[in-house]
Amino acid sequence: MPSPSKAPVPDFSTDRHTSRQPQWINRFANLSGDFGCAVDPTPVPNPVWVARNTELLAQMGLPLDWLESSQALQAFSGNALLPGSQHWASVYSGHQFGQWAGQLGDGRALYLGELRTPTGSMELQLKGAGRTPFSRMGDGRAVLRSSIREYLCSQAMQGLGIPTTLALCLTGSPLSVIRETAETAAIVTRTAPSFIRFGHFEHFSSAPPHQGSSALKLLADFVIDHHLPESQSPGFCQNRYANLLHCVTQKTAALMAQWQAVGFCHGVMNTDNMSILGLTLDYGPFQFLDAFDPMHICNHSDHQGRYAYQRQPQVGYWNLFCLAQALMPLIEDQDLAVKVLETYKTSFAQAIDAAMLAKLGLSGVNPAGGKLYQPADISEEDRALQQDAWQLLAEDRVDYTLFWRRLSHAAASNNSQDPNWQSVQDLFIDRSAWQAWQLRYMNRISHEDSCDVSQRMLQANPKYTLRNHLAELAIQKAQNNDFSEVDRLHSLLQFPFDEHPEFESYAGLPPDWAASIEISCSS
Ligand code: AMP
Ligand code: MG
Repeated sequence: MPSPSKAPVPDFSTDRHTSRQPQWINRFANLSGDFGCAVDPTPVPNPVWVARNTELLAQMGLPLDWLESSQALQAFSGNALLPGSQHWASVYSGHQFGQWAGQLGDGRALYLGELRTPTGSMELQLKGAGRTPFSRMGDGRAVLRSSIREYLCSQAMQGLGIPTTLALCLTGSPLSVIRETAETAAIVTRTAPSFIRFGHFEHFSSAPPHQGSSALKLLADFVIDHHLPESQSPGFCQNRYANLLHCVTQKTAALMAQWQAVGFCHGVMNTDNMSILGLTLDYGPFQFLDAFDPMHICNHSDHQGRYAYQRQPQVGYWNLFCLAQALMPLIEDQDLAVKVLETYKTSFAQAIDAAMLAKLGLSGVNPAGGKLYQPADISEEDRALQQDAWQLLAEDRVDYTLFWRRLSHAAASNNSQDPNWQSVQDLFIDRSAWQAWQLRYMNRISHEDSCDVSQRMLQANPKYTLRNHLAELAIQKAQNNDFSEVDRLHSLLQFPFDEHPEFESYAGLPPDWAASIEISCSS
């Protein structure tokens, strides 16, 4: 087995750095020893490339010819150290399934460091590169199956325009990893401006005051200064840390609205999986809805349905409440913190109204008054139209993605006998309920420019999402050393709003066996 060694790779830390090359800056790693500890990855035998996101690698200014080298493969498998990088794991705590879980931390992820890249600063983490001081009972490894899911889904979210951490590349190894059965290991390299979680704040807030309070302030100031300067200008109020909470509240509300609109279920919305930057973080038992079921539970370990699709916005609020409690030693004004949290309700409502109006192709011209309205001013008729659509979809368990996409095409015609309208109707069992809604909707969009409506909707309603069965087919091939389907899906999901006629079958109903795919926390 190769041991970690200095491979002849580009040294991004040298003076020869130019603005087009990335450079290690490692700001969080160097902030204070309180936030984690140095740890090297544990090598794996015989690593192979599974996938590389060449667009992202190029955007970050990483030399593509170097990525063809075996040194790059060794570095992104955890078998060699990149000069200038700083390997470490951070400590955090969190609430899991509604209960305080105490200390958790990066148990199977570790930082390579932070690069200043042509498109901004980016932290890099290896996920599955071996044990860290925070691994507790875990092996620090990830399996190929779950790593492919993270690699693909983070790209799918990016393609959909939803804030997310993003996988850079994926390597595999024949190393055996025991889950429900023996599987093989894989290592995802993932990127984000910051991987700081609500749980980081909870950790230092829960520590004894002499250990925690200065670290809590240092962490909050670091996030404000380096990642969320917009939280202070203009700011919600005069209180610096209430402004931070407000900014995270707005970002979380916006993220929840985007998840709901596209039918994404995260599966494990514990506070340690909530990004302080409002990014989708820690892909595990996630699922894009096939048939629309508001109470859909994608995580087979979630027996109470705490993280069911419909509950996600409420859980987002609950998690922000935990963050607010963690920030109380800095905010020092409970009434103010409550006032900040209250803004979630309006912000989420506005964001989901705006997202659903876009899905319905309604430009915001209020037919009653003819004025352009803000999302908050959505008319009662439009809100009812949107909520009744959800109700209809739920009653007939209609495929969520197909419905919106077919509706987008149908909206180009004002003839209900048009084949595109028929194809929407075909999704429903209760035809008369559908036709009643269709009549109201066609009447409503007749106030809009019909050509525009359809075009706008095709940009709001993706044709392709990473349905569970599509990921599963890519995984099965990859488990037989054929990684072509991972690449194919990755390319497709970069542009999920485009037609890609050659991929028509990827946009169809899931096969019957998809219902038996079981995804749990260990995924
Ligand atoms: P998750 O449910 O994946 O968000 O993980 C919760 C906590 O368990 C985090 O501290 C993870 O780092 C840790 N963890 C999960 N899986 C493993 C593993 N295989 N080895 C070590 N730590 C793990
Ligand atoms: Mg996690």
